[in-house]
Amino acid sequence: MDTAFFRAWMREAARLVGENAEHLTRLDAAIGDGDHGMNLNRGFTAGLAALHDKPPATPGDVLVTVGRAVVSKTGGAAGPLYGGAFRRAGKALGDATEVGPDELGESLRAALDAIRQLGKAEDGDKTMVDALAPAVAAYAEAVRDGAGGADAARAAAEAAEKGAQATVPLQARKGRASYLGPRSVGHQDPGAASTALILRALATVAGEGA
Ligand code: ADP
Ligand code: MG
Repeated sequence: MDTAFFRAWMREAARLVGENAEHLTRLDAAIGDGDHGMNLNRGFTAGLAALHDKPPATPGDVLVTVGRAVVSKTGGAAGPLYGGAFRRAGKALGDATEVGPDELGESLRAALDAIRQLGKAEDGDKTMVDALAPAVAAYAEAVRDGAGGADAARAAAEAAEKGAQATVPLQARKGRASYLGPRSVGHQDPGAASTALILRALATVAGEGA
């Protein structure tokens, strides 16, 4: 997977976030302040502009560039969390011009570590961690079983989607939704839903054999 692959991933993620911005905002309106879709759409749009203005030379640089743009343009809790995650994921890839399935798995794990460190959320707190943690685990398990990047990415995307669905019955213990206490039960976490989209984008691009 080369620099073009990572650019294609970010492009597809931005497209999916744009297409689902209203849906994400509706999820956030139910248990937050209704800005998640707009926030993230603005961040990814800025990320794509940054990739265009100063084309990165490596996969790591693609993710760091998007992370920087997301930090500066995405408001709310999700901005620093996603921005930090993309930057850390990019740094984990170092200067390599091509990365294999193992390195991509390490990079996804670095993103999860960054979010956990910054947001201090545990599994089951009804956050994006509940989508990303099972995705990272499913990816690693698939690679361990001999899967290539495309199959591992598909496993990650499916686990993220399942994890996002599984946030519905949970009570939020982190972020704005936690202010609602038990009233946060019965709604899907918007950050978990957007994480599932970003991983679906990865699976789509990996599946195209890029
Ligand atoms: P805000 O809540 O500030 O309006 P957003 O609406 O953009 O920010 O993002 C909300 C999402 O951020 C939540 O759905 C949740 O997934 C995620 N989130 C909030 N706080 C945390 C945290 N401490 N750790 C991990 N994720 C969090
Ligand atoms: Mg919000």
